Amino acid sequence: MSEYDNKLLDQPLKYLKGVGENRARLFSRLGLFTLGDIIHYFPRDYEDRSVCKAISEAIDGESITVRVRFVSDISETRPRRNLSIQKAQVTDGTSFMNVTWFNQGYVKQSIDISREYVFYGTVKRVGSRVEINNPVFEELEHSGNLTGRIVPVYPLTRGITQNILRKILRNALDTVSDKLVDILPPGLRSQYHLAETAFSFEQIHFPTSMENMEMARRRLVFEELLLLQLGLSAIKGSSSGQRGIRFSSVDIDPLLKALPFKLTDAQVRVFDEIRADMESDRRMNRLIQGDVGSGKTILAVLAIYIAAVSGYQSAFMAPTEILAEQHYRSIAPLLEKFDIKVGLLTGGMRKKEKEAIKEDAEKGRLDVLVGTHAVLEDSTIFSKLGLVITDEQHRFGVRQRARLSQKGQNPDLLVMTATPIPRTLSLVLYGDLDVSIVDTLPPGRKPIKTYVVDDRMRDRVYKFIRKNIAEGRQAYIVCPLVEESDAMDVESATGLVERIKDDALKGLHVGLIHGKMKSADKDDIMRRFSKGELQVLVSTTVIEVGVNVPNASIMVIENAERFGLAQLHQLRGRVGRGVHQSYCILFNQSKSQVSRQRMEIMASSNDGFVIAEKDLELRGPGDVFGVRQHGLPEFRIANLYRDMDVLKDVQKAAKHIVSEGLMEKDESYRPLARRVELMVRKKLQELSMN
Ligand code: ADP
Ligand code: MG
Repeated sequence: MSEYDNKLLDQPLKYLKGVGENRARLFSRLGLFTLGDIIHYFPRDYEDRSVCKAISEAIDGESITVRVRFVSDISETRPRRNLSIQKAQVTDGTSFMNVTWFNQGYVKQSIDISREYVFYGTVKRVGSRVEINNPVFEELEHSGNLTGRIVPVYPLTRGITQNILRKILRNALDTVSDKLVDILPPGLRSQYHLAETAFSFEQIHFPTSMENMEMARRRLVFEELLLLQLGLSAIKGSSSGQRGIRFSSVDIDPLLKALPFKLTDAQVRVFDEIRADMESDRRMNRLIQGDVGSGKTILAVLAIYIAAVSGYQSAFMAPTEILAEQHYRSIAPLLEKFDIKVGLLTGGMRKKEKEAIKEDAEKGRLDVLVGTHAVLEDSTIFSKLGLVITDEQHRFGVRQRARLSQKGQNPDLLVMTATPIPRTLSLVLYGDLDVSIVDTLPPGRKPIKTYVVDDRMRDRVYKFIRKNIAEGRQAYIVCPLVEESDAMDVESATGLVERIKDDALKGLHVGLIHGKMKSADKDDIMRRFSKGELQVLVSTTVIEVGVNVPNASIMVIENAERFGLAQLHQLRGRVGRGVHQSYCILFNQSKSQVSRQRMEIMASSNDGFVIAEKDLELRGPGDVFGVRQHGLPEFRIANLYRDMDVLKDVQKAAKHIVSEGLMEKDESYRPLARRVELMVRKKLQELSMN
């Protein structure tokens, strides 16, 4: 029997001692419904109340535990209506301390001043005078719950206090702990030095020492990451085992001949992998990783070509309208030479236009539909969808991926990303995909020169821009990222344009583009910049991904320290796309050591993978990838940066378990296998409901 078969863990919370209907409702807001859920509700921190301290040694502002006797009665005053104050004096033999409670009338009744107590609270000290307000207290004889130990601190929700949660967790653990079955087999536990499950749940909530807590935590992190890894590999197994379309073996020479360049070796290798997937009757589930400018788009075009010649439609998705439009403009002329019909569908289009395009897709008059998430909408119907491609995939989570691939009859799936992801993490993010890497850039690219500057260099920077523009080049200026407010982004961009137009860059053709503009206007600005009518493009980060204007050779980024390095790398990748020497100028307004280090990394490397690794080291994955946006799973306990070592162990263990088929063959792996199976089934169900 596995932990999960254990009906006890599925029991609704309301039946637990101390919960009831009302509190159960409060917990449901935190996503906690069952006993199993609540024991997985881990503390966010701990207060060490285990060590008693002498009052005489208490430091101002410190939280301490003290053993005291009362040297006075508890007095009560009522200075105002709605305010009562209880005061007393206590001692621990080293010094005296004044205690004050506010509005805690019950202390007078519940404290027996002839007995010894343990207090925990934050002290104030002025000279030799020590005070404590609203301490937590327990009679010494019955202490050990609230004081005298390490106490968990939970994330709270309205209506539930720390003390309530602590009691409820105590009850929950008392109810389940001797019935928990360990899903990790003993062999695995001893190999990786993992604590047992009952010990781990007890110690993570009510640690008897911080060492025990760390041991418990390591085991729980291991378990969480292992389940994820095995789950992803099961999903991968089931989807790659899925039958897909067997595309014809198409001669691609005509298309290659129409290109102005020869494919790089890396492109050829990755294309061979794509082709092998497409020609097999397995369904393709492939991730193409390749640094900015490595030439991924042409790989998509080749795949689309194969699909079209085989008689299937393709959907090609991009995360922004600008990017979708740009893809449309660059691939349509090429494909239409071969009578492959390409259409564009974005959210910003007029309703009439959208409907017409959708009808074309449904009637099979289109071979390729390029677009934003509008392509995902249920109302978009394809007559014969065979291939789905998503570009700059880091904005599309597993969920969207699954939803898209449900259109048509099991279309092949190709996802492309320029966000360089360290190998270990890519297994967590994309463990359900096969991965190909385009690891070289097309020949002849001059490495971009990157300079980190501060405001004192501003005049020289503008002069430099003018000089390059006089030579026929173009420049981007990216505005500071303003915290989480589109409106403020727009304001800062607009302000910047006003300032430079009449001043530093007077006389030049300066355009502005930001996310709040109508798509027709954005489109217009982009087109004018592409054609060279605009010489300087001031922008918020909307140009981040994929924009391709080879004549642009300067990228200036304001407040570069506010961006993630992966993002800076993306932005920098907008230049260096043509034959001209390109420059990236990073304004660093921060004096902090870490900022300086990060800017140095940018200046010293043009390799997205190196940059990502270093950024990860400096800041951790949450910041690097922006958990939500990049579809990094949310963990209950694991922290990918802090737990990188555990993750490595987990990947080793998972690989062994899968390759040896232990979950099928080895009896001791049954509980684990069953848990993975349930998890995957639940996940797939969730995905199909969305
Ligand atoms: P990304 O991988 O960032 O999406 P793109 O597909 O936009 O890169 O390609 C960047 C530029 O490189 C485009 O202008 C494209 O035409 C060009 N390019 C792609 N492959 C090659 C190649 N093999 N040789 C020369 N230029 C290439
Ligand atoms: Mg691209």
